[in-house]
Amino acid sequence: MKNIRNFCIIAHIDHGKSTLADRLLEFTNTIQVTEGQMLDDMDLEKERGITIKSHAIQMEYTYKGEKYILNLIDTPGHVDFSYEVSRSIAACEGALLVVDASQGVQAQTISNLYMALEHDLEIIPVMNKCDMASAMPEEVEDEIIDLLGCKREDIIRASGKTGMGVEDILAAVIERVPHPVGDDQAPLQALIFDSVFNSFRGIIAYFKIENGVIRKGDKVKFFNTGKEYDADEIGVLKMDMMPRNELRTGDVGYIISGIKTSREVKVGDTITHIARPCEKAIAGFEEVKPMVFAGVYPIEAEDYENLRASLEKLQLNDASLTFQPESSLALGFGFRCGFLGLLHMEIVQERLDREFDMNVITTVPNVSYMVYDKQGHANEVHNPGGMPDPTLIDHIEEPYIDATVITATDYIGPIMTLCLGKRGELVRQNYVSGNRVEIHYRMPLGEIVIDFYDKLKSISKGYASFDYHQSGFRPSKLVKLDILLNGESVDALSTLTHVDNAYDLGKRMCEKLKELIPRQQFDIAIQAAIGAKIISRETIKAVRKDVTAKCYGGDVSRKRKLLEKQKRGKKRMKQIGNVEVPQKAFLAVLKLD
Ligand code: GDP
Ligand code: MG
Repeated sequence: MKNIRNFCIIAHIDHGKSTLADRLLEFTNTIQVTEGQMLDDMDLEKERGITIKSHAIQMEYTYKGEKYILNLIDTPGHVDFSYEVSRSIAACEGALLVVDASQGVQAQTISNLYMALEHDLEIIPVMNKCDMASAMPEEVEDEIIDLLGCKREDIIRASGKTGMGVEDILAAVIERVPHPVGDDQAPLQALIFDSVFNSFRGIIAYFKIENGVIRKGDKVKFFNTGKEYDADEIGVLKMDMMPRNELRTGDVGYIISGIKTSREVKVGDTITHIARPCEKAIAGFEEVKPMVFAGVYPIEAEDYENLRASLEKLQLNDASLTFQPESSLALGFGFRCGFLGLLHMEIVQERLDREFDMNVITTVPNVSYMVYDKQGHANEVHNPGGMPDPTLIDHIEEPYIDATVITATDYIGPIMTLCLGKRGELVRQNYVSGNRVEIHYRMPLGEIVIDFYDKLKSISKGYASFDYHQSGFRPSKLVKLDILLNGESVDALSTLTHVDNAYDLGKRMCEKLKELIPRQQFDIAIQAAIGAKIISRETIKAVRKDVTAKCYGGDVSRKRKLLEKQKRGKKRMKQIGNVEVPQKAFLAVLKLD
């Protein structure tokens, strides 16, 4: 135990966490030459530069003549996955806090740091990207000192690009991070901090042993789910899985035990022995609950079963994705999917498209609401269409978040205007350093789900970072805004909105849909309504569209090409009554200016 160090790297997105991790792995000869970033093995992750699923990897390193085992536990950097971050952090004794020398401290730097401090982790500040011409080492060091109350010499200057500082980082991990503590003789208590799906081996769960010893073949129990398994294989994680016969207190490893779906393994759960169980589970276990919901519908009705099969497969390795069948008058049969957040939703959509070739329509995302009836019963509603009749509703509550924005002082004005427009209440504001300020807001999650990130980015020219955590439900005056096409209400276009915003939203929705729905051979009336009351209207004028008209009948192959093109153009359209509506239109509310 004395020569083990368990640590993670925490950073705001793009501050160089993965790159630095690669350098550590190279320097310790854990991996040889790198092609891109070794820790992110999903294509999608690489493209987005986001480590979606956390991983753990073991390095061996000799320092001052002694051999050490360094377990690097990678944490996802995005708010949608903050529960996973908190579990990975709980498995560590120390953290490298990486700050980009050209960007300084950002919103996720702070939120991840707070999480690490909550778990009493030893923090090693690392200023990365020192090779960059735009680095401002003194200013950023001042910020770090303000944030941590550390000494200037505690901060390691590094570069994931040139390898500068890597040796110092390893030395600091060994010198400053405490070794794990625990009791080898006590009943087994191992924290599951992550799991992955492997199509040959089933689910592989990653754990850290807090107390006790686990041996291959042991009969084990997962504390919170109550499920029992045989430890068919246990081992440590290098670039590959390395089976072992025994793992002891302080070790980080994996277990394979015939688990078929990720739903059986809950991150945060405790593994113990059936014969000699621990008394208590490791604290902090939470059931993760999806917070953002959207309808996902096949373009072609006959793809419904395929879509179900695809979602089931996705769920095997993504336990936080939920789905249940729903039907829409407009879109037919589909599923209401639950996601951790907007990024998670985008990832699922993209994976459906890439890995399963599923052509789907996604409806506007919404949050989950608590609807109280006159008898005082609460009902959770995930879909505007599922709202009960207004006369039966006593009141509605919606989820709120505590949001942190860090930005340059120049942008405070526009950002406050934006937050106010999103029904935000200013909680407090403090200066991070000379010209940067940290603003705290309490706002409805439902407002963030709709185009908040994009707006924040554009009004701050990218100089604002954002993070949030949930802060419970609060009563709210919400109404359902319906959209009618040629007099027919399109359920998939309904949204729930605050009563004060309903008129404005209705007007802008109608205008946007007028832009997005192509002209057809008849007039199309677009109306917004609250209950029976029409609050806005636009008309799309008819057009006679004959794509082959300009071909004079002569060139047959050209004519065919045009027809094919038109057919392809139609693919992502949905016939609603007699109106063809493109996918874009279902997301119109996200694109309002
Ligand atoms: P992460 O989101 O924190 O994992 O960040 P990445 O490791 O993916 O890095 C984000 C971007 O910064 C990538 O384009 C890297 O190539 C680049 N980068 C990372 N570290 C350095 C560094 O030390 N110097 C320079 N110049 N670029 C870096
Ligand atoms: Mg990364």
